[in-house]
Amino acid sequence: MAVDKRMRAIEGDITHCTVDAIVNAANGTLLGGSGVDGAIHRAAGRELLAECMTLGGCDTGEAKATKAYRLDARHIIHTVGPIWHGGGQGEARKLASCYRRCLETAVALGDRTIAFPAISTGAYGYPAAEAAMLAVSTVDACLRSYGPETIASVSFVCFDRRTFEMYESVLSNKR
Ligand code: ADP
Repeated sequence: MAVDKRMRAIEGDITHCTVDAIVNAANGTLLGGSGVDGAIHRAAGRELLAECMTLGGCDTGEAKATKAYRLDARHIIHTVGPIWHGGGQGEARKLASCYRRCLETAVALGDRTIAFPAISTGAYGYPAAEAAMLAVSTVDACLRSYGPETIASVSFVCFDRRTFEMYESVLSNKR
């Protein structure tokens, strides 16, 4: 079956994206970390940390929004992906929940264009190809409930060429 054409893969740094909502692959404290989380906090500025300190953390598979400060977006949606433990501890269900909850949060805020990083595939060790397939199939299923006036585009922002090619292949194989 063809996947929804509102999804696309791009190669680059998510902090340079101009969208309504930029998704952050955070940790449960929401107080910043390495990888994309560190890059987002550095680019957004220290006010982001101040707002995050008021949120009381976030559970795995859940999402919480903040303002975007110096990023060219309306909001940052912070989500906490699962740590990969071999796949037998509900990792796929939790990762799918991240994508769903981020989309629900964006819709609730009136954000129509969203950029996702490859959640859990860095420090958290989720196998990249499996994560890409799950991201595309989960977002695709969600988009069936959201018309283009609600969600106009979903960008999967890939930090390296290999991840980009993986997403391209998942998106094109299903088209
Ligand atoms: P996690 O802890 O959820 O695994 P990481 O930040 O370690 O989060 O990695 C998630 C993905 O984000 C990895 O594919 C990593 O290469 C990518 N990444 C790191 N920095 C950026 C960035 N500035 N823009 C987009 N993706 C990034």
